[in-house]
Amino acid sequence: MNERILKLSSWMQEENIAVSFLTSTENIFYLSNFYSDPHERLLGLAVFQEKEPFLICPAMEKESVKEAGWEFDILAYSDIENPWELVEKAVKTRIKAFDKIAVEKEHLNVVRYEEILHRFSGTKIVSAEEKLRQLRMFKDADEIARLRKACALADYAIEAGCAEIREGKTELEILAAIEYELKKKGVQKMSFDTMVLTGANSASPHGVPGQTKVQKGDFILFDLGVVIDGYCSDITRTVAYGDIDDRKKEIYDIVLKSQLTAIEASRAGVSCADVDLTARNIIAGAGFGEYFTHRLGHGLGISVHEYPSITETNPLILEKGMFFTIEPGIYIPGTAGVRIEDDVLITDNGAEVLTKYPKELKIIS
Ligand code: MN
Ligand code: MN
Repeated sequence: MNERILKLSSWMQEENIAVSFLTSTENIFYLSNFYSDPHERLLGLAVFQEKEPFLICPAMEKESVKEAGWEFDILAYSDIENPWELVEKAVKTRIKAFDKIAVEKEHLNVVRYEEILHRFSGTKIVSAEEKLRQLRMFKDADEIARLRKACALADYAIEAGCAEIREGKTELEILAAIEYELKKKGVQKMSFDTMVLTGANSASPHGVPGQTKVQKGDFILFDLGVVIDGYCSDITRTVAYGDIDDRKKEIYDIVLKSQLTAIEASRAGVSCADVDLTARNIIAGAGFGEYFTHRLGHGLGISVHEYPSITETNPLILEKGMFFTIEPGIYIPGTAGVRIEDDVLITDNGAEVLTKYPKELKIIS
């Protein structure tokens, strides 16, 4: 049995959970190495305390499940079969009593919830999400290798974006050039919709790229990430096109200082809150506190937002193997914004920064 499934099983024993029935693409991938978005069809993974797990998937996916290395039962169903009948039978041949069934409450839809209640009457539905978030928070060597690749390609994407900046280019033209370059390198998927924001648009932390053209004196903010072997990177760089005014330079310097100091402070034994506050206090101390409107960072891995959450109220203590972003920003509405974001890994020797694109203010002319 793989180590990840064993960890889930031992938690189920402690909690007296008879079966965990998981249906999210991400958690199934984490436990089985099979990655698939099944759309409306059922994809499920059942884990037991002692019995062998099984995976249920559309028939056309069966070979891919084997190719992913899944060694246990595969229940493959055609489009004219009812997959829930197969699930019920497979569960009931393995166990007789199911007081508690763990599901992903934030993911499972109501139709499926009712299906489970109906077929396993008398069971109590509990949540498996928190446990899986805890497990996924610690990255093993295989995951770290994938994350390193994803980060290196994020660096390359920033380089490609900077090379494309010229007077009059639109945000969307620059975005398309970045993704074209990445596809030539074999990147199939971005971690989220790529952001290229220029001028006043850079002041919107979740802005949407459009037809705005690059002009001299503007900041251009890139926020992007790539998915490699199922794992996400997430980087932000803000660069200047032509000479920028002193106020913009000041904002840049404060964000950079905040970011570097927070990376320095990130190590095993320090709380998430302390890391956030280290960065936040520098920005607030410079008089821009009200313009830093989000948490300092977030864990990432199979999903682009995972644990740990780096907020000023999270008492969680950092430990070796945690992987998260550090991304302070200052956003002056209607004027300009700066964010600098790296992905860091907690090691025995503090935080290792896996995204490596340079951070000193870059002025493109
Ligand atoms: Mn980002
Ligand atoms: Mn981020």
